[in-house]
Amino acid sequence: MKKLGFLAFLFFFLLAFPGQGQAASGATHIKLDGREIKLTKDSQVQEISGSVLVPLRVIVEELGYNVNWDSKTKKISIEQGGNTLDLTLNKKTAHVNGAKIIMPAAPLLKGNITYVPLRFVSEQTGLKVLWDNKLKTAFLTSPDSESGSDTGSNSGTTAGNVSGNSTPVPAPGGSSDTGTSSGSAGNGASGTTGGQSQLASINGISFSDNRLIVAIDGTTITKVSKLTGPDRIVVDLTNTKFSDSFLSGQPLNSAGQGLLPVTGFPDVKQVRYSLFSSNPSTVRLVLDLNYSKGYQLLNAGDGLVIVDLNQDSSGPATSPGGNGKKLVVIDAGHGGQKDPGAISITGKYEKTFTLAVVLKVQELLKKEPDIDFVLTRSDDTYPTLSDRVKIANDLNADLFVSVHGNSAVATATGSETYYTRPDSIELANVMHKYLVEATGLPDRKVRQKSLQVTRETKMPAVLLEVGYLSNKNDEALMYDDAFQERVAEGIVAGIKEYLGLQ
Ligand SMILES: [Zn+2]
Repeated sequence: MKKLGFLAFLFFFLLAFPGQGQAASGATHIKLDGREIKLTKDSQVQEISGSVLVPLRVIVEELGYNVNWDSKTKKISIEQGGNTLDLTLNKKTAHVNGAKIIMPAAPLLKGNITYVPLRFVSEQTGLKVLWDNKLKTAFLTSPDSESGSDTGSNSGTTAGNVSGNSTPVPAPGGSSDTGTSSGSAGNGASGTTGGQSQLASINGISFSDNRLIVAIDGTTITKVSKLTGPDRIVVDLTNTKFSDSFLSGQPLNSAGQGLLPVTGFPDVKQVRYSLFSSNPSTVRLVLDLNYSKGYQLLNAGDGLVIVDLNQDSSGPATSPGGNGKKLVVIDAGHGGQKDPGAISITGKYEKTFTLAVVLKVQELLKKEPDIDFVLTRSDDTYPTLSDRVKIANDLNADLFVSVHGNSAVATATGSETYYTRPDSIELANVMHKYLVEATGLPDRKVRQKSLQVTRETKMPAVLLEVGYLSNKNDEALMYDDAFQERVAEGIVAGIKEYLGLQ
């Protein structure tokens, strides 16, 4: 079981939680790196209030760790290979090698079985955890490299995230835009009108650099209207639907609408989207504006529909980067309910860290006259890894930078920069120099690894593991505003040096 041992044990221990009520009839499963772990009838995986729970005893039997249970103090101490984990029944505080960790719920004892919520552990240990509700199976994947890098390089799993509370899509403000659309109609782009057989599908919706960007497979017909009272721009995409992967990452609410909050761009309040009509299948996007604003529609049939508020339709149409400026794509790792990323030593999400840094990068890039930029996400949503790659490739970007936080054993600390293809080495070296300088953390070097976003993009591409969320010191810094700002400045400085824009 390689080095996985103790981590796996921690994981299993913490995975558990008392269940009132067994999981519904039917067997549940745990697969560790593809290998099924036997569960007895009364030690099934349980789902309670959205959390996935696994009994400790099974795991103890499976892995054979040294466990001390003090029934007086209700303390559970687990040791393996010099690592210790201390838990107390009914208390949310645990210690891993002396470092305090707060769990979302306290361990509980039921019969002889100790249970702890999964979410806390999931990536505390470096294990990837996915719960497939259909198969009633918890899939555990051990880290695939010594670095403990958490960046999955595949997006093919159908397993959903196990973490508990769901964040409902906020209800859209304002009335639905079913009214008559007066005002200037946008230019319809090319596209055949034949039947519904070949619907285009939307893979991603994002708003960055004052542009609405819709990533689409297939050909769509666009109609844009500018409406008043309140001011808004309505974009209808005919012959178009939402892709399944989009809907699983950015689900619509019960009214069939989704919402993309917009911050940092004074023209726009928010973006709403819905399936406006099923015959013909039409997706409607509404940009709720703070005041009347011109726009430029771009639908060149290249996989992106762009509504650009930086210029109105009287000006020449330019796509991002098509104006002599360099175009960079900045990717905040993970996102949405589907993929919170690693969970930090104090229970914070990696996705929150990555977004915070990227939004700071955005603010800095806005001031750069020679750089255009696109964010793969600007809020808590989950574009798939393929979507992120597609955005960069469709835009023919000059470079791609993905921001992540690492997770492994508690002692691991420092900054790493990953690349995959040889044409990215120079970018990796430049970015790493600025990253290490900005973080002040140990230099864990530039490393080559096959990661989807650095492998399948067609331009120089790097993935920054800024620091270790599993390390007390790194983690405290990583959620510090001033530290994030320094990292953002380092990223922009690296981009500028690489592009020769200093
Ligand atoms: Zn990550």
